Amino acid sequence: MKLNRVHLSVVVPCMNEEESIPALLDRLSAAIAPWQDRAEIILIDDGSTDTTWDVICAAKDSHPQLVGLRLSANRGHQVALTAGLDAAQGDRIFMLDADLQDPPELLSDMMALMDHGYDVVYGRRRQREGETLFKKLSAWGFYRFLNALSDVEIPKDTGDFRLVSRRCLDAVLDMPEKARFIRGMFAWAGFKQVGLEYNRDARMAWETKYPLRKMLRLATDAITGFSTKPLRFATRLSFYSLFVSLWMAIYVFTSLIFYNTAPGWASVILAISLFSGIQLLTLGILGEYIGRLYVETKGRPLYFLSEELRDSQPVQLERRA
Ligand code: UDP
Ligand code: MG
Repeated sequence: MKLNRVHLSVVVPCMNEEESIPALLDRLSAAIAPWQDRAEIILIDDGSTDTTWDVICAAKDSHPQLVGLRLSANRGHQVALTAGLDAAQGDRIFMLDADLQDPPELLSDMMALMDHGYDVVYGRRRQREGETLFKKLSAWGFYRFLNALSDVEIPKDTGDFRLVSRRCLDAVLDMPEKARFIRGMFAWAGFKQVGLEYNRDARMAWETKYPLRKMLRLATDAITGFSTKPLRFATRLSFYSLFVSLWMAIYVFTSLIFYNTAPGWASVILAISLFSGIQLLTLGILGEYIGRLYVETKGRPLYFLSEELRDSQPVQLERRA
């Protein structure tokens, strides 16, 4: 395939990114210049409460290759990204965040690697500028914990910043799960993958759109989606607690018989708190999986589009069913 004949799709989820979008489009347009005539930039407005959608619509005049999708409500980064991937028509698909933490200029290097036969070229963060120690530490710990639990090797210190081939994207889009951890799904899909190291820049505007609550949801989706080890851990934990309670029973009876002590409240409190803690933990783990089973069986659509901004005569390309 000749390089400049490659049809390129760029997919960017945006939530409250009104400040970032103009700079993003400038840098993106420069980065995609070699593929300009066969490129589309898909911006997904994930239920923003600021003027993100207006900014996207206003940019259409100066950026004719722009496609805007507006979700009917905020569905989260991973679902917004999925909406963009569903709409992408390119042979190669480039995903990045709207805040310019992932440099669009890396596209040409990623393209070059893909020319060498790779299906996925993912960005691997060498360092994170301007992020809190907590964010750095939690991200560092999370990827290691996840890989210890998961059966597929999910590349460490990566985000969704990557260039993927059409066949690999189709494989991921064929996965019907509602709890989406997209970087893990690409890892699971297989094919030839390679990492490209880069320095992560500081966020361009305002603060992160990933508060702790959303980070925890992503982390539990990742763990429950890619590992059943926590379930096995729960079973093992109940065996251990049974073992400990046997020893406690021996202790209680011997002290009752030989030392004639009044049964101490300390051991009772200890036993109750230990075992109720273990029970709650086990129930919680089970609950996480059952909750996800429930969501999957409902089979609701992941998102609805409330508005679409496209050329009146879209490029005639085969669209994915
Ligand atoms: N984002 C989104 N929906 C959300 C949260 C975030 O579409 O509910 C987008 C956001 O606009 C950005 C990307 O997801 O383009 C990553 O978010 P952010 O940069 O805040 O995450 P961080 O870099 O802090 O992990
Ligand atoms: Mg960011």
